[in-house]
Formats: sequence, C-alpha cells, structure tokens
Amino acid sequence: MAGDPASPPGPTHSPRPCPICRRPSSARNHPFCTPRCADVDLHRWLVGSYAVAAEEEDAPSEDDEAGSTG
Ligand SMILES: [Zn+2]
Repeated sequence: MAGDPASPPGPTHSPRPCPICRRPSSARNHPFCTPRCADVDLHRWLVGSYAVAAEEEDAPSEDDEAGSTG
C-alpha cells in the first residue's frame, strides 16, 4: 500500500515579489507592493526612455588603436 504524498500546505501559485523592493506584492497594487513602488517603476521607465532617445544622436566613432610612434 502506498500512501499518497500529501502536498505541503502552501500557496499553489508563487506570487511574484515587487520588482522594486522585492517585497511580497499586493493584489491591489499588483505587481507592486505599494502604489509608491509603482510610481518608482514608472519614473524609471520614463527616464530610461528619454536616455535611449537622446543617445541616438551621433554615431560612435571607432577611431582607436592607432599605431602612432613619436
Ligand atoms: Zn515594493
């Protein structure tokens, strides 16, 4: 007779932690734990967007490793 291995008492699904502070996210502020963290993420996103857009201004020049003796 083999007894069925009872599953350990715990959450069936693993809730993802807050990407900002790694704290257990709240259903109300999913996937963040608090509206504050949600704001932080939004801010980062905006800043990153601007940074990327401003970077493609002029192409980088590969003018290195020049054998110059003098
Ligand atoms: Zn958080």
